[in-house]
Amino acid sequence: MENGSLRGIRQRDGSYALFLRVPGGVLGPEDLEHIGRVAREHDVPLVKVTSGQRLALIGVSEEDIPAIRADIGCGEGAAAGPGLCFVQACPGSLACPHGVQDALSLALALEEIHRERAFPAKVKIGVSGCPRCCAGSYVRDVGVVGTGSGWTVTFGGNAGGRPRIGDVVAEGLDRSAAVETVACLLDRYEEGARPGERTARFAERCGCGRTAEQDTNRQER
Ligand code: SF4
Repeated sequence: MENGSLRGIRQRDGSYALFLRVPGGVLGPEDLEHIGRVAREHDVPLVKVTSGQRLALIGVSEEDIPAIRADIGCGEGAAAGPGLCFVQACPGSLACPHGVQDALSLALALEEIHRERAFPAKVKIGVSGCPRCCAGSYVRDVGVVGTGSGWTVTFGGNAGGRPRIGDVVAEGLDRSAAVETVACLLDRYEEGARPGERTARFAERCGCGRTAEQDTNRQER
């Protein structure tokens, strides 16, 4: 698969789960047939769609991992260590009747820009095509939400054991400004966070989600 990557994580029974990153959560019929064929050929016991729109091939033995990677046609993905976990996207204005912005194409662009980067801890991005926020943007490390007046960008969200709603960093952005804002936030996080520190904790410690000027503007509204 041209844009896929397949990372392996050890499971509680000693087998491995291989996580296939699926940019934008979009798979064609050929991709599905191909993955199904490889799963059958290697006797993969379970294939699961994850909450981050990845496919998990669960129950793989360690020695089968290289062959499965080769047969699926993708590597391990980003360099060893934490990086971009996924860019989750809803269908947005491409298909959803509520969509006001093109979430899918923005998500694919963000995936392309940041897919190989290494970060202090894993980074999850959610892009939603309207304020209903089906891609969980407010609880992602970086969230992008479409509105009638452009894109809202959030930072420092987390849906885990210490959940946190992301800080609104900017609103009413056009697409290129949204892309730029996401890049600036991730640069700042990469430079300033401690090893293993997720964006939620980093935002609490450093308040780096918003600039002082943005905070002032928001208080005045
Ligand atoms: S966030 Fe909005 S555009 Fe996206 S799937 Fe949900 S309702 Fe549709």
